[in-house]
Amino acid sequence: MDGGPLSNMHARDVEALLHPYTNAVAHRSVGPHTIERGEGVYVYDSEGRKLLEGMAGLWCAGLGFHDEELIEAAREQLGRLPYYHLFAGRSFEPAVELAEKLKELAPVPMSKIFYQSSGSEANDTQIKMAWYYNNALGRPEKKKIISRVKGYHGVTVFSASLTGLPYNHKDFDLPVSDRVKHVATPHHWRGAHPGETEAEFAARLAADLDAFIEAEGPETVAAFIAEPVMGAGGVIVPPEGYFEAIMPVLRKHDVLMIDDEVICGFGRTGNWFGATTLGMTPTSISMAKQLTSAYVPLSAVAINAEMAEAIEQNSHKIGLFGHGFTYGGHPLGCAVAIKTIEIYQRRDIVGHVRKVAPLFQKRLRDHAGHPLVGEARGVGLMGALEVSPDREKAATFAQPGKVGAKLSAEMLSRGVIGRAIGDSFAFCPPMVITEEQIEEMFAPLEASLDATLAWAK
Ligand code: PLP
Repeated sequence: MDGGPLSNMHARDVEALLHPYTNAVAHRSVGPHTIERGEGVYVYDSEGRKLLEGMAGLWCAGLGFHDEELIEAAREQLGRLPYYHLFAGRSFEPAVELAEKLKELAPVPMSKIFYQSSGSEANDTQIKMAWYYNNALGRPEKKKIISRVKGYHGVTVFSASLTGLPYNHKDFDLPVSDRVKHVATPHHWRGAHPGETEAEFAARLAADLDAFIEAEGPETVAAFIAEPVMGAGGVIVPPEGYFEAIMPVLRKHDVLMIDDEVICGFGRTGNWFGATTLGMTPTSISMAKQLTSAYVPLSAVAINAEMAEAIEQNSHKIGLFGHGFTYGGHPLGCAVAIKTIEIYQRRDIVGHVRKVAPLFQKRLRDHAGHPLVGEARGVGLMGALEVSPDREKAATFAQPGKVGAKLSAEMLSRGVIGRAIGDSFAFCPPMVITEEQIEEMFAPLEASLDATLAWAK
């Protein structure tokens, strides 16, 4: 293929694309890593290498990279109705059927479903709904949103403001609004006082949240937004009893609990939703990613009856609910989501996650004692190793992210794709992964850690 389109992918890519989450200058010399096709938990790159995709892409391809049933469902829907919308009361069967399904599956009773295309849009919708709701109730002051440092809620102007990570704010002039407040990360290893148990740490975080809301003025605080398990912040599992401790604080101050299930939803933690695994009681839920096994962009927001009623009445007062996206509830997305959920149910994917997760968590923790590892953590089929120069002190490296990136490169050279998040290295494989493939995914970890340690010295 000399001179052909594939052989000069490097030149074409660096001339034509600005890549997300990439150092654009370094990329000019490094060039792209081109993926050509997928099969099960594997993808194949342009050099013909078979790679175990230990991140399901971006925490999303739950059914792996070539599910014929999903492909057929997409083909069928494109043939019947390739596009329509839900504006001005228009409707179509797959949008309704999926909404009914999501209500059935929700971890607590939900009343209405609103569609978008991405997780960021879902969280933007959440905030607009929280404001609309409080205006509808005659509480125009109640608008602040509490998020958490290291929480990840997306990259649109407002969802990035909710996100609590420096890269998403720096030089974007974010957070955009002083209505966004960030509170502490519920990370026991880093955040606990010496000798403090997980339960004590959780109780302290809840007491701090209570004091924070009191200081802000409860009449000004609309909502708290949280992922059951922080994903892009480094797979941070909250301490035992965390959500059980903060839920009464939110109820006391009449603060909405927005559950961001964009990663945790649809089986990832061993239940349909992370809220069930982590003891959270949401008032509304954001869903995306595994909703369609990532084959088609689609996200959904579920709201409870109280919110739905207030929003409906306010739309009547104003004349309409002035929010909606051209592609929100796209028929292709809805058809693929319906098929995805049917497959999750028929193949008992949640049961499968519960069956294989103990091996996944054990193999991850087998490396907790490696001299480079600060902490091994996770739940269900998601987990991370955080590298640290001093485990006892939960110390960070002088140049954060370098060692994590090296570990990622070492794993890739041994055939496994994971994700370096600063100095954490995350695994979140397709949920269809077998025990044999879990062994295969972790097999190169010890050698990769050793090579990274030798390099770091
Ligand atoms: N919320 C969570 C928890 C996420 O992990 C992500 C993306 O990784 C988002 C929201 C944003 O979703 P999207 O990238 O589809 O906008």
